[in-house]
Amino acid sequence: MRKPIIAGNWKMNNTASEGAELVKALKPLVKDAKCEVVVCVPAIDIPAVKKAIHGSKIRLGAQNVHFAEKGAYTGEISANMLKEYGVQYVIIGHSERRAYFGETDETVNKRTLAALAAGLTPIVCIGESLEEREGGLTEKVLDNQIALDFQGIEDFSKIVIAYEPIWAIGTGRTATDEQANETIGYIRKRMKKVYAGKNVGRMRIQYGGSMNAKNCKGLMSQPEIDGGLIGGASLKPADFAAIVNFDK
Ligand code: PEP
Repeated sequence: MRKPIIAGNWKMNNTASEGAELVKALKPLVKDAKCEVVVCVPAIDIPAVKKAIHGSKIRLGAQNVHFAEKGAYTGEISANMLKEYGVQYVIIGHSERRAYFGETDETVNKRTLAALAAGLTPIVCIGESLEEREGGLTEKVLDNQIALDFQGIEDFSKIVIAYEPIWAIGTGRTATDEQANETIGYIRKRMKKVYAGKNVGRMRIQYGGSMNAKNCKGLMSQPEIDGGLIGGASLKPADFAAIVNFDK
């Protein structure tokens, strides 16, 4: 059994005090959650949000991590720095980082290995663009990301993949339940083949891309979908809680 995981990606939203207010409002709404609940917050919000989630089921995540242990990497944050602050999860390779900050499959792989070495759970984002989907290239793009992003991982039960079709992120255009299920099923099948014997069967794969309070039930009822990575809807406590409580 794979326990569902719903993670919010706040992106560059909420100051530390706003973030603390948001999770204070969220706490009572998710107190009976059966799934894992994570908020991935801006790095500077981590101390305030850590304090605010105390005593709740909400777990703390970051949105990026550097691959080096320490050194001359101005502006970066290491896995140990996150770990010391009680961060448990970290998003890696989000399409916005790939598009705007030069993230490559190679750096995604390095960050993922560094996160695992520090005991963090990486949430690694993969997915195709609209052009690639319409050109019939979805599987080819995913095959490539699967081959490059996960090299050197020995135990896939320790990572989460977020399948995020780029055309569905922040656009209000969601993949259909069947499309998301089919593609996630493909990812799982391919990973089992490429990384045979490395616990791929226990790895969770989320769907991400305009998941909201209305469409979450349909998506989460699909057998291959183990959770959601939620952008816009994670900024509103009631909407995020409705997704967390998709089974109610
Ligand atoms: C995301 O940024 O990971 C995401 C899925 O965003 P949204 O839910 O806003 O589409």
